[in-house]
Amino acid sequence: MNVSVLSCLKKMLVLLVLLFLAGGYSLAQTPAELAKPTEVYSPVPKIVTPGQTDAEPPSDAIILFDGKNLDMWRAAGVDTTKPAGWEVSDHVMTVNKKAGGILTKQRFMDYQLHLEFRIPKDIEGSGQARGNSGIFLADISDSGADLGYELQILDNYNNTTYVNGQVGSMYKQGIPLVNPSRKPGEWQVYEVVWTAPRFKEDGSVDSPAKVTAFLNGVLVQNDYVLKGVTQYIGQPYYKKHGASPIKLQAHGDPSKPDSFRNIWIRPL
Ligand code: MG
Repeated sequence: MNVSVLSCLKKMLVLLVLLFLAGGYSLAQTPAELAKPTEVYSPVPKIVTPGQTDAEPPSDAIILFDGKNLDMWRAAGVDTTKPAGWEVSDHVMTVNKKAGGILTKQRFMDYQLHLEFRIPKDIEGSGQARGNSGIFLADISDSGADLGYELQILDNYNNTTYVNGQVGSMYKQGIPLVNPSRKPGEWQVYEVVWTAPRFKEDGSVDSPAKVTAFLNGVLVQNDYVLKGVTQYIGQPYYKKHGASPIKLQAHGDPSKPDSFRNIWIRPL
């Protein structure tokens, strides 16, 4: 590099520094602005009594399942009065694959969800056919078919499958950041923050759905923006809807059914 080029570069550097300083000066706050207090005292956050442990529901949670019954749930399908057909015993509910999926009777927009699931200790099968279930964070099917936004449940402790279909994925969309699976037979925990999509009058998307999810305390989805409802084949798409039920999937794979316990939700 010759001397004239070096000198030119130095001049350019000095000019850049001067421009930066000039910009900084113009953005500086005036003495009057600096004298203003920045503390605010309202709105005061509502007091919520947390559970004895982080797994227990806080005082403002809606209990969706506490081990006693399925009163907060119904069978998926056109008959909205059909009771949920899953078994409850030992404070645990277990998928009944023949009875089909179950839906919350209540509909939700944005929420925080806590849910615990267990893959059977003696699970068999491979790929997608090994403890497959799922949480449809908003189910928009009227027919009982699986249509919505599925946060996958699957045994991936020692089982591989397509990565946008493993546990922690937003099925066929969002690959989980990591795989923090526990062994089959151990209880696993999902903590989910769901932001429902908003639609304009004409049905177009005003703001897309977003999800943040922790599996066993480990972040697997970080403010993931969804492209639409889960599709097994084809690309996800949006279809206008409002508040929706949450669905637990009864997947048709031949492996033994998963169980659930301690499910609670805080509408936001
Ligand atoms: Mg599934």
